[in-house]
Amino acid sequence: MKIICVGRNYADHAKELNNPVPDEPVIFLKPQSALVRPKFPVHYPEFTDNLQYECEIVIRICRNGKQITQKTARQYFDHWTVGIDFTARDLQNKLKAKGLPWEIAKGFDNSAVVGDWVKIEEQDSLYDTSFSLNVNGQNVQKGHTSDMLNSFEQIVSYVSKYFTLQIGDIIFTGTPAGVGPVLPFDKLEGYLNMQKLLEVEVR
Ligand code: MG
Repeated sequence: MKIICVGRNYADHAKELNNPVPDEPVIFLKPQSALVRPKFPVHYPEFTDNLQYECEIVIRICRNGKQITQKTARQYFDHWTVGIDFTARDLQNKLKAKGLPWEIAKGFDNSAVVGDWVKIEEQDSLYDTSFSLNVNGQNVQKGHTSDMLNSFEQIVSYVSKYFTLQIGDIIFTGTPAGVGPVLPFDKLEGYLNMQKLLEVEVR
């Protein structure tokens, strides 16, 4: 399976990191080894002094496809949850300044946390959905899908121009404003429409 991520998909977050709002989706990948096993903690990597959370809605691909149109894209994902795109921000800033790829700042072991999957029901409104992250019981990020720059359908269609999507692939769809650092023993909780789907501790 592939872990596909969208960067800068919420304008307020692009601004907080002083990035321009892109006119096309910004896509990067994490390897499968980045996934944190359910109920396992995230170990603070030794190569960073600024490990940051990015809370995002994650969708799961349920059909193989490539060159998917925006019109049919909805048929290609059927579950969603919240996840954390952990980022070694100091490393990423160094690489960005040199115009180099970010992979080691984004795709390291334990950098992809995924909550419990929920089936997307007929009555769920994709673009009237909220999500949020608490750190040690305090809310630090709040997002709403009406603020996405690229819709889920646009993302699926765009990504499938370049990569064949396969059943089980997952897509992190971008973080809203409020990203910040974590420290060992922090406890993170992620919510989708007020339902707690994710719990992870940093060690
Ligand atoms: Mg992200």
